[in-house]
Amino acid sequence: MPRLKVTFRGLVLALILAALPVMGPAAPVPEIAAIANQVQGANSTPAIDSFQDFLGSLPVNYGDQRGWSGTTPQPHLLAARTTIYNHLSALLTPYGGAVSYQNFTYYGYPGRNIVGVLPGRDPGNTQQYVLGAHYDAVNNPGVSDNASGVAGVLEAARVLSRYAFNATLVFIAFDLEEKGLWGSSVYASAAKSRGDNIQGMISLDMIVYNHVQNNRVEICRGYDANSTPLMNELALVYADYTPLTPNPRPNVWGSDHNSFADEGYPAVLVIEELTPSNTPRNPYYHQSTDFYLDSNGLPNLYGGLEYIDFDYAEEMTRGAVAWMAGEAGLVPVPAACLLFATGIAGLWGWRRLRGR
Ligand SMILES: [Zn+2]
Repeated sequence: MPRLKVTFRGLVLALILAALPVMGPAAPVPEIAAIANQVQGANSTPAIDSFQDFLGSLPVNYGDQRGWSGTTPQPHLLAARTTIYNHLSALLTPYGGAVSYQNFTYYGYPGRNIVGVLPGRDPGNTQQYVLGAHYDAVNNPGVSDNASGVAGVLEAARVLSRYAFNATLVFIAFDLEEKGLWGSSVYASAAKSRGDNIQGMISLDMIVYNHVQNNRVEICRGYDANSTPLMNELALVYADYTPLTPNPRPNVWGSDHNSFADEGYPAVLVIEELTPSNTPRNPYYHQSTDFYLDSNGLPNLYGGLEYIDFDYAEEMTRGAVAWMAGEAGLVPVPAACLLFATGIAGLWGWRRLRGR
C-alpha cells in the first residue's frame, strides 16, 4: 500500500470536486433521470401503468363527444370526469395525496376542475409545482386535444407519487378550456387569492401527434416576459432528459398556461409542432377525426402512419416529469431504510448459505 501523499494537483482536484454541488450538478442528474425513465408510453401489462392505459380509458374513439350541448355537459365529458377523478385518487391517496373537485359556474356552464395534490414533506416549504391539462373537447373525441395531455398528467402522477419531495406537486385536469380557458382561470385566480406559492406551471395540451416524425416539442410562454426563465429552463430539461428537439417560443396564446401567467405565475405550454403562425400542424386539430380507435377498433392513421405516437407521448411526458422531480427537491431514501433493506438482503443471503 503506497504512502498517502497530498500533492498540490490532488488538492486542487479535491477542491473542484467539493465545489461541484455548489456550481450546480451536470445534467442529466442520475437520480432525476432514474425517475423520468419510469414514464411509460405503452406496454402490455394488465395494470393501468402507462400513458396508453390512461388514454385508452377515456372516451377518445370514433364518434365520442367530450364537449357540451348548450350548457349541459355531454355524457362522455361526464364519464371522463369520473374516470380522471378515480385514476388520480388511486394514484395519489396511497402516498398521502388527496383529490378534490373544484366546482364553478361560468356564463351558466357548470364546470368542474379535478385537482390532485401531493403535499411536500418539508412543512417549511410552501412551494408548489403544477402540471395541468384540459379534459374538455370541441364536441369531438379530442384524443390529441386534449385527452393526450390528461393522460400525460396521470402518467406523471403515477411516477412521481412514489417519491418524496420537499415541495408540493399539483396535478390538475381543467374543464371548459375550449370555451376560453375558463376552468384554469377560475383555478389560477383562486390560487392567487389564497396566496399559493406556485413556482411554475406546465400545461400539457396536445402531446401525441409527431408531425412527420420530427420529434419536436414546442415550449411556449404567453405574452409575459415573467415566464421566459421557465421556458428556457424547460427547453434545457427536454434536451437533457429526452431525445426530442425543444423549441422555445414566446407569445403563444391559447392554452391554460395563459391563465396562470395572467395571475403573475410563471407558466408554459408544452405542445406538438406548431406552424410559424402558432397553429397546430396536427391535421385533425378540432376535427371529428381527432380520435384514437376507429369504428373497427383499429388505430387511426394519418399519411400511412399511426396518428397516435406513444413513443413521442412518452418523451413529451418525460420532460415534464424530469422538470417536476428536478425542481421539487427530491427527498433521499432515509439511511435507516437502506440499512434495513441491506439487513434483510444480508439475512436472506445468510440463510441461503446455510441451506435454509
Ligand atoms: Zn386544447
